[in-house]
Amino acid sequence: MELAGIQKAVVVGLGMSGMAAIRFFRDRGIEVAVSEYRPLADLAGEERAMIRELAHETGGHSEQFVLQGDCIVPSPGVPLDLPVLQAARTASIPIVGELALAAGMFSVPVIGVTGSNGKTTVTSLIGTLLRTCGYRPFVGGNIGNPLLSALTRRDEYDVQVLELSSFQLDLAGEFRPDIGLLLNLTPDHLDRHGTMEAYVRAKMGMFRHQGPQDYAILGGDDPLVIQQAENIRASVATFGHGEQRQAHIVDDEIYVDLPGRGSGCFSLAGTGLDSPVNRLNAAAAILAVISFGAKERCVDDGLQAFVPAEHRMTRVAEIRGVVFINDSKATNVGAMAAALKSCPIGVVLIAGGRDKQGDFRELREIVRARVAHMLCIGEAAAMLEEVFGDLTRVERAADMQTAVARGAVLAKPGQIVLLAPGCASFDMFSDYKERGRVFTAAVHALMDMENTENMENTEKSI
Ligand code: ADP
Repeated sequence: MELAGIQKAVVVGLGMSGMAAIRFFRDRGIEVAVSEYRPLADLAGEERAMIRELAHETGGHSEQFVLQGDCIVPSPGVPLDLPVLQAARTASIPIVGELALAAGMFSVPVIGVTGSNGKTTVTSLIGTLLRTCGYRPFVGGNIGNPLLSALTRRDEYDVQVLELSSFQLDLAGEFRPDIGLLLNLTPDHLDRHGTMEAYVRAKMGMFRHQGPQDYAILGGDDPLVIQQAENIRASVATFGHGEQRQAHIVDDEIYVDLPGRGSGCFSLAGTGLDSPVNRLNAAAAILAVISFGAKERCVDDGLQAFVPAEHRMTRVAEIRGVVFINDSKATNVGAMAAALKSCPIGVVLIAGGRDKQGDFRELREIVRARVAHMLCIGEAAAMLEEVFGDLTRVERAADMQTAVARGAVLAKPGQIVLLAPGCASFDMFSDYKERGRVFTAAVHALMDMENTENMENTEKSI
């Protein structure tokens, strides 16, 4: 972005991204101030040290403070309908996202990954594949490293791999990735975007400034994604089932044929990616690195080396023939559907939390077919009971420990107790990771009890 006219920037919302934005302006000699909704007393460590060095307001965002900037940069977590941002629009002060700031400043090729589900898996898999192929990727954006931090350590990287959320893409400005991926589109974050149309429009920020020399990689099994191809100027390549796809999946093999770039057959057998959902993710990532120019042989090594992140269909334990699976990262309707499709019928499902306005009625068919019992937690419990109560046995559980204990009683050997909440975690936990850890701890506690009982019984019988 052109920074010439900017004398003073105001960053709204601290956190990792906000701090990276502050450094971005400071490095360029531009005055910067920060507005943070948390009170000063709640800030610690680097955040506290940084805010003290700057003009700041804490405990809320005021018009008087924020509108003093001639450019306002909200952190990705900040809702764009915040009154102070509405006031900035009225005053015609540009509201700029971190992607827009970085646009045009990347000195190496950029691969952007978005979609409703699978972003983290595909982004980190692309990183692993590129690393095994001898590249030095920066992997960040919506995971780990804030994307602006890539601009300060340029000589360490030869390619940027960025996970991008709809919030980041909503303010993408003239951002243009060399390779942009859109994995799938199912309702998510509608509490913030308002409508599905607005959500899709935000995601399409990925492709808006691409040209024919760039690649757009699209999830071919998702009709709504494929529908977007007509609005894309880049060369489109698709992945999914069906021979017309440039990366097409047949059981656990992926056949890639991208004219001018490469072709090959990649097996997922024996890798951590051999599940219905991860076959799609692997196809997307392979297509991305082949279009980037990676050689087929090293891609195989990367597939073998990849370890999927925790809380995504992670097998926790088996107790008396019942397998417990932690898919705490299933925070929306699409991910819950994908999780259920990956399990045999007769699932005992733990679901609920804070609803993100997902339409759970879309899951009625799959719940009828696959769920034997549903244990509902959190704010969404009553809504889930109403949507699914006539299809399967639905019970409420006061907390995660109760849900796990009840699941263990209800599930028969061969069945799965699956945590796939379909909702955000913030009503009961600090985030999806804590929710997954609490689930895992409850399962481990159950396993310890089971082992103790078994030992006591053995001792009695001796
Ligand atoms: P994101 O970063 O988009 O949230 P993750 O890779 O962290 O994606 O996975 C989030 C959730 O979505 C997990 O529950 C996972 O099992 C599920 N998931 C992963 N990939 C897909 C996919 N391609 N389609 C549907 N669900 C998926």
